[in-house]
Amino acid sequence: MKLSELFTRTEKSVSQEDISINAQLLERGGFIYKNSSGVYTYLPLGWRVISKINQIIREEMNAIGGQEMLMPALVSKRYWEASDRWNVDIAYKLKDAGDHEFALGWTHEEVLAEIARRYIKSYKDLPFSAYQIQTKFRNEPRAKSGVLRGREFIMKDLYSFHRDAEDLNKFYWQVAEAYTKIFQRCGLEAYIAEASGGDFTKEYTHEFQVLSEAGEDSIFYCAECRYAQNKEISTLANGGKCPKCGGKIVLGKAIEVGNIFRLGTRFSEAFDLNYVDEHGSSHLVVMGSYGIGPSRVLGTLAEVFHDDKGLLWPKAVAPFAVYLIMLDNKRAEADKLFEQLRAAGVEVLYDNNDERSAGEKFADADLLGIPTRLVISAKTLKENSVERKARGSTATELVKLTEIVAELGK
Ligand code: ATP
Ligand code: MG
Repeated sequence: MKLSELFTRTEKSVSQEDISINAQLLERGGFIYKNSSGVYTYLPLGWRVISKINQIIREEMNAIGGQEMLMPALVSKRYWEASDRWNVDIAYKLKDAGDHEFALGWTHEEVLAEIARRYIKSYKDLPFSAYQIQTKFRNEPRAKSGVLRGREFIMKDLYSFHRDAEDLNKFYWQVAEAYTKIFQRCGLEAYIAEASGGDFTKEYTHEFQVLSEAGEDSIFYCAECRYAQNKEISTLANGGKCPKCGGKIVLGKAIEVGNIFRLGTRFSEAFDLNYVDEHGSSHLVVMGSYGIGPSRVLGTLAEVFHDDKGLLWPKAVAPFAVYLIMLDNKRAEADKLFEQLRAAGVEVLYDNNDERSAGEKFADADLLGIPTRLVISAKTLKENSVERKARGSTATELVKLTEIVAELGK
């Protein structure tokens, strides 16, 4: 894509109201636009990153048998009444013209439990799992952390249905493994922290926590074996011994990017969700629920991968692979390279402006954080070359124009 066609621009500074690093950098780069507190637009650059995160999530969810679907955001009051979750602070509630009451979906156990009742009759209909990637609404009291905590945000929520706790448990750990892969593919190393069950279950839930000073959670973790617990439930101590490997326990701030729950039968009881076993007796279905916030992952990436000049996207989620800069008005040569790279399937953002200074272009390249920067100038063309630099490194190298496309197209 040509930068001149991108409808957004980089900004030197944005409103000081947003002090979080992710909001500052993402807004300055033109990745997001803040519409109101905790409510953001994902602009074309930001949406490209989110789409890559979502695609990674899809691949790993599909790999464990998750089936993608889409549920309504407008969820009738009767669902929440059935599970006794109508009176929660975080729900946005509304009435339609006919006085029917709704809450905007902030989670979807209820909706899918009711749908599942139509299709689950016998043990042969189990297990299965289904997920969606959808906008969720939560009336968050604290919305000061940029896209880490939105009032409207994107969530991938997977729900699973099983005949017993054992089958749920097996799937639960498969999901945990899939989550680890998802975060690794996004460039993040998440700790799997034990946490209390909240209102769902007496067993531990597991949170996927990425160490960051911007995090609202604190976790005790062992860097040796990666055992971790959320501080809120923990009897561990900073500097203490890891109960698993004897290593040293450290206390750190962290961002919760994912959370998995063994729900048990709470929602199947509420929705009368039963199945008949091989012997003809009826049992409640056992459920699990598993969330990831792709928009929070976007913010986490910005918090974890930046320097004083701007963002540094990991390759797998970068909005573009290459930022191509034309200098000295070498338009014909730069246009040609742009077309060749595109034809080779390389995602290029082409800074084809002939009015901005080299310094301004380099500053943009750094702010946007695209992994590879290429520069075509009078100087590089003397060597029939283009200058290549990786974001985050200071080393540059000249690569022959005849070789660069094949190298980047690999
Ligand atoms: P938190 O404790 O941070 O409020 P939660 O435990 O209530 O989150 P879950 O209901 O477990 O969140 O949601 C699943 C995932 O959705 C979270 O792990 C997080 O990645 C994401 N998420 C939750 N709330 C928000 C939010 N307000 N803004 C952005 N992402 C969110
Ligand atoms: Mg959670």
